[in-house]
Amino acid sequence: MKRIAVLTSGGDAPGMNAAIRAVTRVAISNGWEVFGVRNGYAGLLAEEFRPLGARDVGGIMQLGGTILGSARCLDFKTEQGRLKGLRSLNRNEIDALVVIGGNGSQTGAAALSKMGFPVVGVASTIDNDLYGSDITIGVDTALNIALEAIDRLKVTASSHQRAFLVEVMGRNCGYLALMAGMIGGAEAVVIPEKETDPDKLAEEIRSAYERGKPHALIVVAEGAHYNAARLMDLFEHKKETLGFELRATILGHVMRGGHPTAQDRYLATVLGAGAVDALARGESGVLVGLINNQVTTTPLAEVVDGCKSLDLRLLELAEILAR
Ligand code: ADP
Repeated sequence: MKRIAVLTSGGDAPGMNAAIRAVTRVAISNGWEVFGVRNGYAGLLAEEFRPLGARDVGGIMQLGGTILGSARCLDFKTEQGRLKGLRSLNRNEIDALVVIGGNGSQTGAAALSKMGFPVVGVASTIDNDLYGSDITIGVDTALNIALEAIDRLKVTASSHQRAFLVEVMGRNCGYLALMAGMIGGAEAVVIPEKETDPDKLAEEIRSAYERGKPHALIVVAEGAHYNAARLMDLFEHKKETLGFELRATILGHVMRGGHPTAQDRYLATVLGAGAVDALARGESGVLVGLINNQVTTTPLAEVVDGCKSLDLRLLELAEILAR
């Protein structure tokens, strides 16, 4: 019988709970024992394991966040910290670890795997910047929240003939901004992957005004050089130039806290189950993700080195659609 542990690490993402449920119940159906680790790698170092039974993961699938808690643990970035983690796993007689998380968490998982411990990662981050999965757990819910906010802002913007800057999450990756901008009907999208000329941006807002639009919407990624705060500084008191009066809304962590959508629950379920299946096949040191709609494993070493690029053709499409 195998004894496995599961943890959630880094930024929380809606759907993590559905992944915990799938890992737990599929492992139990294999006759294995499952332990939940509190607060990511921090709980691993503090030996905070608790047994997870089938009933412990009931009623959690529809909840955002993570019942196990998540944390950022600087200690785990050091060799000494990881050795402590390894000792903790061995002392608690754990045979394998499932790490549900994003880029940083999977880098930690790769390092642990390199030390010889069986680890399987599950692709989970709202940013969708993880190599090894076309789409990651939490993205769909975060996008839906952004779209709902955008739809609402457009209503009030139209009533007052205003332009809105909407800043969405995404430190190094403009995926959420690009998608929310394109399918939210933005006049412009500002992302870290493409340089922005603020004068051109002002011109686009002006042009929307002159084309008779009742509002203008610019979706900005938080990690873009010209984020909402910088653009507000630049454009403040520029109503004459822009045509519209400008307001900013920063969605921030609101985007993380939603109930997972059907898509995220599905993704979390098949990826969580896929992680246990991978371990049952004897695979480890891999990330479980969705590639071309198939649950697929990719070596963690490749995931850490890999870079997921954004399809910038969608940016052009977004510009055409804003006519
Ligand atoms: P995410 O997984 O959402 O990208 P972070 O980047 O904050 O979140 O990473 C989560 C945790 O993963 C960190 O607090 C740390 O414990 C671990 N981690 C991140 N980078 C590394 C690294 N280079 N080596 C080992 N562990 C890491």
